[in-house]
Formats: sequence, structure tokens, C-alpha cells
Amino acid sequence: MAGQILIVDDVATNRIMLKVRLTGACYDVLQAGTGQDALSMAQRERPDLIILDYDLPDISGTEICERLSNDPITRDIPVVMAIAQIDHETRISALRAGAEDYLTKPFDEMTLLARVRSLLRARQTEKELRLRDDTSRELGFAEAPPVFIKPAEVALIGGCPDAVSWKTALGLAGCRHRIRIVAPEDALAWPTPKKSTDHQKTENQTPDIFIIPGDLERQDGGLRLLSELRSRAATRHAGIIMMLHPNAQQQAIIALDLGANDLMAGTFDAEELKVRLDALATRKRRSDQLRNSVRDRLRLAMQDPLTGLFNRRYAFTHLARISDHADNSGNPFAVMMLDIDRFKQVNDTWGHQVGDKVLCGVAKRLQENMRDVDLVARIGGEEFLVAMPDTNLDQARLAAERIRSLVEEIPVVIGADVPPIHVTLSIGVSIGGVNDGVSHQPENLMMLADQALYASKNQGRNTVSFNLTAA
Ligand code: GH3
Ligand code: MG
Ligand code: MG
Repeated sequence: MAGQILIVDDVATNRIMLKVRLTGACYDVLQAGTGQDALSMAQRERPDLIILDYDLPDISGTEICERLSNDPITRDIPVVMAIAQIDHETRISALRAGAEDYLTKPFDEMTLLARVRSLLRARQTEKELRLRDDTSRELGFAEAPPVFIKPAEVALIGGCPDAVSWKTALGLAGCRHRIRIVAPEDALAWPTPKKSTDHQKTENQTPDIFIIPGDLERQDGGLRLLSELRSRAATRHAGIIMMLHPNAQQQAIIALDLGANDLMAGTFDAEELKVRLDALATRKRRSDQLRNSVRDRLRLAMQDPLTGLFNRRYAFTHLARISDHADNSGNPFAVMMLDIDRFKQVNDTWGHQVGDKVLCGVAKRLQENMRDVDLVARIGGEEFLVAMPDTNLDQARLAAERIRSLVEEIPVVIGADVPPIHVTLSIGVSIGGVNDGVSHQPENLMMLADQALYASKNQGRNTVSFNLTAA
């Protein structure tokens, strides 16, 4: 996975040494010798990553970082700050300014490359999601509402003697996130939420972030837990911070390659962890939002907003799939067109809103009375389509009669001011997948079913008819 990296350093030899290492690992490298150049280059080229010297003669590293984060064009570009003299103050100021991480100069090559890989991977995922989101946006689907910003749920993996004191120290440092100490085995037992919109109780809520102490008194030092968390559906997208010993360089490299989002090595620094948690929580929220928005837009692309049934576009695609399945299995399938009788009268008598409720009531009844494998879609104002795989003529007749009489017998309940409303359905059915020389293309079967529906209307409505030219 290549990527473009902008190196910012006022010392030419530093730039050249770094460039050699990065081009050796197949990255594209850009260089800037001053803060001003760095800013304009970032704007123009929008690199995938910036390695930024903390001490520059014209503008300070932290100020560049802040300016990059405040500019919509550059704010998503991750920045790693290169610091010669690392102390508590510089570290915190670099992270506060918006840097994803800092590295000590001169760089340890392996650590540097592991960090670069990890950041570029995250950047790539975000780019892909953004692209998918933009595509669906262009298709005209509505903007997702902004997410309410609440504190993140953080699981601090227990089993090490420090967990309790870390939790206390984070609280004292003013950390606003909800921190729970969780046993390693419980971290792996989180159930997959059924829908990500599920309103779970906070106790059961999957953590947004896991903090894994590197010395879990195990041989693997927490790395196995990290890769297990990454591979499970419930925790795959969680943010993960590894806490490592100062000399655990090898472990740090593996942790990043296994998918840790962030690392902290050295003596525990509550303030630094707090700043990192804030940054990770923000990133996590942003990518969740993006992921949800892609998912919602996909759903919107297939769903009828009034009834929640599949829409016309989806129905056509799915019917083609059912037809392919019939070709392979040799079993017939049924296509039903259903139209509410004299629906205009419902609107004229009770108003459009009541009409909408009747449509929803009929949709619900269709949905509840068909098998899970059947496709139920709303393909027009008061017209529905049901496609039933592995269904022969007799089974289709039974199903159609059952749904016709159910709708006739049980009126749709509307609410306090309006009496229950009686409607009936006219239904037309065609059968596909039988070996009779007639085209079983979805369009043709829909046309045949439509003709049958028309016949039901002509026979006085509230009737099921078949178009069995094909049977
Ligand atoms: P027929 O028995 O011949 O099907 O008569 P009909 O009145 O049901 O058929 P027609 O096609 O003349 O009228 C359909 C009506 O459905 C007209 C339209 O106002 C109404 N309709 C279409 N979409 C919606 C909707 O989303 N909500 C409501 N309330 N009414 C709708
Ligand atoms: Mg009608
Ligand atoms: Mg109609």
C-alpha cells in the first residue's frame, strides 16, 4: 500500500535521510523546508501523511498542526510530530495541537515504518468510506443527522495491578469519558449489537475504546487480545490503545501491524493518555458516523420510506436473482401483483394521511403473512409486488387467496378519530421457472402478472387471477 508522505524539516540532511528510508519502503515523498512551504504544499497536494518537525524556524510545529486541523482541506491528514527533546510538555502540546503521534529524533526505522503503515491504513479506510458516502450522496440520498457528542465508553483491561490506579489518575486528570475496568475474557465476550442503532443500556454497550496494558502477565503481552478484538464483529471497529513498557519496541511494531490505533510507551502519564483518548474518541465517532451514513444511504436506496418495504428498484434486482436461482434449482417461482381496490375513495373520504396509514397497514399485513424468503415490495402508489421463490401454482394460489381474504376480513385500525377501514385487494399471479418455452425474464413475468391483475379488476375486484399462458 503506497501513499504520499510530506516531510517537513528545516535541516536538509534530516529530510534526505528520512526520504531514503521512506522511498525504500515504496512511499512517495514530498519535502518542505519551512512551515510556510509545508502549509501550502499540504493544501495543494493533500498528502496522506505529514511528518512534521516540532522546531521550525518560521512557524512552530504546533501552530502548523493547528492550522492544518482548522482548514477543511487539510484537517483529515494525519500528522506525526518529530521531536528532538521529548518531555511531558512537548508531548502534550504536540498531541493537543492535533498530532496523531510523536516520534523521537533520530528515528528508529522500524518503529517509524510501523507507525506510518498504521496511519496510512487508517487513512485509506477513511478515504474509501468517504468515497462511498459521496457516491450515495450524489445519488440524492439525504444527509445523515449530526451525531450527539457524548463521552466515549472506555474499557480498561484489568488483570494488571496498575489498572485501578490508572483509572483514578485519568479521573483526576479530568478525563470526561466513562471508564470501566473489564477482565480480558469479558472483553472478548461482547455480543454483536443487532443493529448499531439499538439503544443498549450503557452497561452492555460495546466499548468505543479499549486500553490494553502490554504486561498482562502473559507471554504475548496483550497482543493476542488485541488481534482477537480486531477480528470480532462486535469490537472490530473499536479504538484500541496499547500501553507498553519503554523498551518494548518490538511489541510496539507488532501491535501497530495488528491494528492498534495508538500506543503509549514509557512511564504512565495520565494527562497524555487523556489527550490521546480524546483524539481517538473523536476519530472513532467520525468514522462511525461515516460508516452509519453509508449504511443508511444504502438502506434508503432499497427501501420505501412510507411502508418500510423494499422499493421498486430493489424488487427488480431481487426478482432477477430469484429467476437465476430457479434456473439452477429447477423449481418454479411465483410473481404476484397486488393493488388496493378503489383506494382513491379512501383518500377522498378520509384524507391522504389516513390513506397513508391504510397503505402501511396493508404493507404490514403482507409482510407478516409471507415467508421470510418471499420478497414483499411497494412498487407504486397502492401497488405491491410479492415474489415467492420455490413456489408452484398450487402453493401460489393458496398464498394469494390467504392474503386476499385476510385483507378483506380484518379492517385496518387507524386511531381514535377514524373507524377501522375496510379495503380489499385485487391480485394477479404468474409462475416462472417452469419449462414451457415462455420467457421467464422478470419483466415478462411482471407483465403477465399485471395482465392477471387487470383481469381481477375487470371481474369486479377482490379477486385472484392467474396468467397461465406459461403453465
Ligand atoms: P382501482 O380499484 O381501479 O385500483 O381504483 P383505485 O382508486 O385504487 O386506483 P387509482 O389508480 O384510480 O387510484 C390510486 C390512488 O392511490 C390515487 C392516489 O391518490 C392514491 N395514492 C397513490 N400513492 C399514494 C400514497 O402514497 N398515499 C396515499 N394516501 N394515496 C396514494
Ligand atoms: Mg387501486
Ligand atoms: Mg393502482
